[in-house]
Amino acid sequence: MIEVTSLKKSFDNVEVLKSIDFTVNKGEVVCLIGPSGSGKTTLLRCLNLLETPDAGTIAIGNSRVSFNSILKKREIKEIRQYSGMVFQGFHLFPHKTVIENLVTAPITVKKDNKTTVKQKSEQLLEKVGMSEHKNKYPDALSGGQQQRAAIARALVMEPEVMLFDEPTSALDPQLVREVLKVIEALANEGQTMVIVTHEMNFAKRIADKILFMDEGYIVEQGEGNQVITKPQNHRTKEFLSLLE
Ligand code: ADP
Repeated sequence: MIEVTSLKKSFDNVEVLKSIDFTVNKGEVVCLIGPSGSGKTTLLRCLNLLETPDAGTIAIGNSRVSFNSILKKREIKEIRQYSGMVFQGFHLFPHKTVIENLVTAPITVKKDNKTTVKQKSEQLLEKVGMSEHKNKYPDALSGGQQQRAAIARALVMEPEVMLFDEPTSALDPQLVREVLKVIEALANEGQTMVIVTHEMNFAKRIADKILFMDEGYIVEQGEGNQVITKPQNHRTKEFLSLLE
């Protein structure tokens, strides 16, 4: 589903992603862990071209982009259609109700049928436990409710891959569980996902593969939860021991 090869990204001559290679298979849940500043968010943002990599290739679904030449708008659009992004800070449209937040993109971007989109949106809000809040504006909702609405908004575009950037780190501890439960349910349905997270127990439970990043490199990766339960690299061991 995703194949990333020799991906590099610098900001102001500082190399933040130094040469990244990994793959994500269909239906897999991949968790990206590592210290703050190691490049996790930048890598996730590169996957849907919110950041433009300097070199390397990204293939998602049937699209493949190489970053050695200037990107065409068509390529950006093609790559983006495969993924849905959920941000740390929710990023709902503040002047739209929950249901309006969901229906806007499929109707305006994908030109989908309004009635069908509305029905699908209502089903998704039911799924994330937000039906009763569908006519509220974001500022009338808790952080957990906003994040569940943001997840439904990403899902309504029917992305092949869901990208989560620390989806619970802006939430009060008592609201974290309700969001993790929604993400876990998606994992159980076979939704392909890449998740940047600091929630190690969650990663241990949910991941088919864990990638540990440090200073712009993936220094260790492994199947299931073995990177957390049996770390091999000294940097991974050090990172995990600091969390205990
Ligand atoms: P992580 O998600 O692992 O905490 P990030 O990808 O957010 O790491 O950041 C990696 C490095 O890149 C950090 O040093 C950060 O300051 C820098 N960085 C991220 N985004 C930008 C940007 N837009 N401009 C300049 N530097 C950035």
